[in-house]
Amino acid sequence: MTNKFRYFIANWKMNGNLNSIKSINNVIFFAKRYNNKRFKIVYCPPYTLIDTFSKKLKKTNIAIGAQNCFFKSNYGPSTGQINAKMLRDVGAKFVIIGHSENRSLGEDDKTINKKIHSALNEKLIIIFCIGETLDQRKKKFTKKILTKQIINGLKKVKKNSKIILAYEPVWSIGSGLVPDNNELTNNIKLIKSVINRNTRIKNIRVLYGGSVNSANIKDLNKVNDIDGYLIGNTSLNSKKFIDIVKKIYI
Ligand code: PGA
Repeated sequence: MTNKFRYFIANWKMNGNLNSIKSINNVIFFAKRYNNKRFKIVYCPPYTLIDTFSKKLKKTNIAIGAQNCFFKSNYGPSTGQINAKMLRDVGAKFVIIGHSENRSLGEDDKTINKKIHSALNEKLIIIFCIGETLDQRKKKFTKKILTKQIINGLKKVKKNSKIILAYEPVWSIGSGLVPDNNELTNNIKLIKSVINRNTRIKNIRVLYGGSVNSANIKDLNKVNDIDGYLIGNTSLNSKKFIDIVKKIYI
């Protein structure tokens, strides 16, 4: 049992269709029954489902986010892109930016920084992802990489900007592997101190993401500094997703 507030953010990635909306009924019921502001559930479905999710979740305490956005906020000739205004228009309140699956397709720190600014201008809450690859970790570059991603990604971000950071070691995403609590504690401490020293953001919340499930959540949650979880694969199964929250709060 704990009283600390935490986020549980479901990142559905490239999964789901109009039929999948039914699968979240029990999450809605669960959130209504147990949520007394101790935790917040956010669903980040693919773009194609944001509108449907928004309608479905309208009178609930579950919020909606997107998994990315384009860096330009104006409407115009950018075929295939979706901007922060459009996300806001269909009910998104959050947006994931800088996920390693997009970084690996060529999204660099500069683009990520532009995306963060354009989403902040539209009053979206940013879930800013950072993390080292296995190779970088082996070479003991973790500190250098996380520092660089934070400083470049959060360049010129104002004091009261609504940003949540998600620490997601790339080697942990979808692999079943998670860092041990010692490594996690050290990296989260590092992240908080880099943010304090290099940005104007105060008291940032730091989430952990990467292979979170109901079997490892109790152990992960022993790391005091974690303010919530970004959950991919396990969030696709609503019973397993609820189990994660239950293991902490109920
Ligand atoms: P995973 O994904 O939980 O499937 O490892 C997490 C993420 O990529 O956000």
